[in-house]
Amino acid sequence: MNAKIEIQQQQVVAPDRPVIPFIEGDGIGKDITAPSQRVIDAAVDRAYGGRRQLLWYEVLAGEKAFRQTGEWLPETTLKAFREYLVGVKGPLQTPVGGGIRSLNVALRQSLDLFVCLRPVRWFKGVPSPIRYPSLVDMHIFRENTEDIYAGIEYMAGEADTRKFRDFLINEMGVDKIRFPESSSFGVKPVSRDGSERLIRAAIQYAVARRLPSVTLVHKGNIMKFTEGAFKNWGYALAEKEFPQQTFTWQQYEKVKEERGKPAADQALADAKKAGKVVIKDVITDAFLQESLLRPYDHSVIATLNLNGDYISDQLAAMVGGIGISPGANINYHSGYAIFEATHGTAPNIAGTGQANPSSLILSCVMLLEYIGWHEAAEKVYDGMEHTFSKRRVTADLFAQMEGATLLSTAEFADEIIRNMH
Ligand code: NAD
Repeated sequence: MNAKIEIQQQQVVAPDRPVIPFIEGDGIGKDITAPSQRVIDAAVDRAYGGRRQLLWYEVLAGEKAFRQTGEWLPETTLKAFREYLVGVKGPLQTPVGGGIRSLNVALRQSLDLFVCLRPVRWFKGVPSPIRYPSLVDMHIFRENTEDIYAGIEYMAGEADTRKFRDFLINEMGVDKIRFPESSSFGVKPVSRDGSERLIRAAIQYAVARRLPSVTLVHKGNIMKFTEGAFKNWGYALAEKEFPQQTFTWQQYEKVKEERGKPAADQALADAKKAGKVVIKDVITDAFLQESLLRPYDHSVIATLNLNGDYISDQLAAMVGGIGISPGANINYHSGYAIFEATHGTAPNIAGTGQANPSSLILSCVMLLEYIGWHEAAEKVYDGMEHTFSKRRVTADLFAQMEGATLLSTAEFADEIIRNMH
């Protein structure tokens, strides 16, 4: 019997009993993995009455891998993710010494996982610093392979840096480096190919889920040929590849110029009525403000790597913090996807049974949705909603909730299972 998830004509196709490789992770990874799997297994069982089941298959990475094999990221682990397409990952500590800068980055690069997807939604009862957290329902598509994260950097004073600086000044005629002798440099590659595949995935996601808009978030007013180009390529792509499914802000501006504002407003209203996805753009700093003041104005967010990093943490904080925010790294072409806890290894609470498993549980829910097992995903949402609204929570949330009951990681998982209807 085939136990592999496959991609066929750009669709993820899952057998009833797929093998799911998982990395337990370091620190609290050990504390949250088994309880999370228990919750997911219970949801699948209740949704499909034994007809479907995830076959968890442990693969090694991080400290556990190093202890057992002498390698931080064994080739067999990468092979398993390639073979089974879809997997799960707990938090990994960054190795001290050795050749790998970050295991997370190594995994993303080797599978070319170009989208970092972070859905941001609020669960009733969870403490939030904003007034109307129930209005938050955003989906961040962060570009995962380019931008300043390419790691092309030169440290002030080093020989290569002087070479780079002299090239800029002598060959390229650059005369705007304020302190040429003591400057470090970083290079920010942003390509049309890289931007388009990210924005295409964001639009397809919005269309498939009937979401109202895609916001291109960029700092193109300053970085015109990188972030500004990202925006322009995004608009062009929407108009070329999704003419029937989208209405862009540039089209709005064009109608306004030709036929006046009332006609443009009418065109926008017609597009919304027809269920088209509105494609708009916002400068990053304005977005960080707007997302706090008017979160309901934004649905899917497509953005570059560094912006996405900042935005992910702010939006996570708005709905309860990294302890409950899920994430996934995905290549929508090959189908490769790793669903992961977004927090770190939390060494300060590892092994104490206090960790909140919600981030990993919700990441596994994203996996269920990715393979089309929506009924099981709904069971988990149901269980979590009831658990939070009864204020039965782990230590991180207990500290901020009046009248709450403190549960251990395992008790919290049991409570979610009990609350699945
Ligand atoms: P961290 O996320 O591990 O911890 C930050 C704070 O949040 C701590 O107080 C911790 O106790 C708390 N916290 C985190 N997750 C929690 C949970 N599920 N429940 C309750 N409390 C939780 O960040 P850090 O301390 O900066 O990093 C520790 C290690 O994790 C480092 O080695 C770092 O490189 C690594 N890290 C890994 C990932 C990843 O694998 N995706 C992400 C971030 C950091």
